[in-house]
Amino acid sequence: MNRLFDKKESWTNEERKTRQDESLSGMVKLGYEKSARLKSILDKNKINPQNIKTREDLEKLPVTSREKLVDMEMQEPPYAGLENQAIPIDRIFTSPGPVYEPHLSEDDNLWARAFFAAGIGAGDIALNAFSYHLVAAGLTFHSGLQKVGATVVPSGTSSSQIQVQLIKDLKVTAYVGTPSFLSSIISKAGEMGFDFKKDFRLKKACFAAEPLLPDMRRSFENEYGIDTYQMYGATEVGDVAYECSQKNGWHICEETIVEIVDPATGKNVAPGELGEIVVTRLNEIFFLLRFGTGDLSRIITDACPCGRTSSRIAGISGRIGDAVKVRGLFIAPSQLKMIQAKFNNLPLQANVSRIGHEDVLKLRVEKISPEIGSPAWEDNFKKIFREICTVKIDQLEYLSAGVIKPEEKLIVDQRQW
Ligand SMILES: [Zn+2]
Repeated sequence: MNRLFDKKESWTNEERKTRQDESLSGMVKLGYEKSARLKSILDKNKINPQNIKTREDLEKLPVTSREKLVDMEMQEPPYAGLENQAIPIDRIFTSPGPVYEPHLSEDDNLWARAFFAAGIGAGDIALNAFSYHLVAAGLTFHSGLQKVGATVVPSGTSSSQIQVQLIKDLKVTAYVGTPSFLSSIISKAGEMGFDFKKDFRLKKACFAAEPLLPDMRRSFENEYGIDTYQMYGATEVGDVAYECSQKNGWHICEETIVEIVDPATGKNVAPGELGEIVVTRLNEIFFLLRFGTGDLSRIITDACPCGRTSSRIAGISGRIGDAVKVRGLFIAPSQLKMIQAKFNNLPLQANVSRIGHEDVLKLRVEKISPEIGSPAWEDNFKKIFREICTVKIDQLEYLSAGVIKPEEKLIVDQRQW
């Protein structure tokens, strides 16, 4: 059995970059001709379309947030003038805002790579529990499932009782939807007198649109025997990244350029640092360059044992508003939660202050067990903190158990701006 969806997934980094740069430069040239909006953005920034040749050149362009896209579309409905009017659009999606997006082509392998990486293929009967109504999710996930050869049950957002019935009657093997909806389907099955693990054949689940919390994942995998995978995308740009069997970061889709930028400047951060995920989808229909997702992540460039050569993003660490910058590096509450999980749910709090012109990062930690505070514990804690947050801890403060109240923030920023 093939381990990869296609040969693009095993391109060398040089090959991938060369091809993506070529597509990008073609997209910008075409967009300048076909889209009045892109032309005006480039002209306003005094950029000759011929000079956007590589992904590094993208930094010359502004990042477009969802809010900005909504404004632009309100001024110029329906697509803000970002579309290629020479290509007929077969479908229009909406998302809250409202934002209108032209459907990209059916030839696009949207989500197929993600399903393939999750081991879904011919022989699978997949329940697609994403809405088919107005939004892009239902139909685009449907099309990806078809591309890997699965049989799709388009159950959409039918009640959990109907979903249980379908899973049972149709011998469904895979679920596509949100994790919270799968949880309610599982509890409904219990209420209906079924034993989910024994009575059903559902063994794989692909999630999007919501975070998959570690406890939830453990429960799906250990209690119900469901192998879980995460997928990440946005209606404006399609699929962005997907998890492979290694479950250590999400591979960036071959048709997208992902930049990790400092939201204040729009410039790329150093490799491995936390920043906003900014996406450019390479296509010839919708010329939305540098879409700012508002989500935070960092890039992992190490080789992945699964054989895919693309870089990965390290999950979503939160929204840009939640993060705090320390010595130029972001730390997000979700990163601290990851550290807590590694240390037995250790109660902690990060405190950022400033002495002179220097930021000081203090970690306040409750001494809930005797080894906490020993030199060996401290070394290990600092090492793991640095691995997850990139930033170095300046001070560690040990508190008695129960001092940090549950309602307190995980990161307290005491600096005066
Ligand atoms: Zn992998």
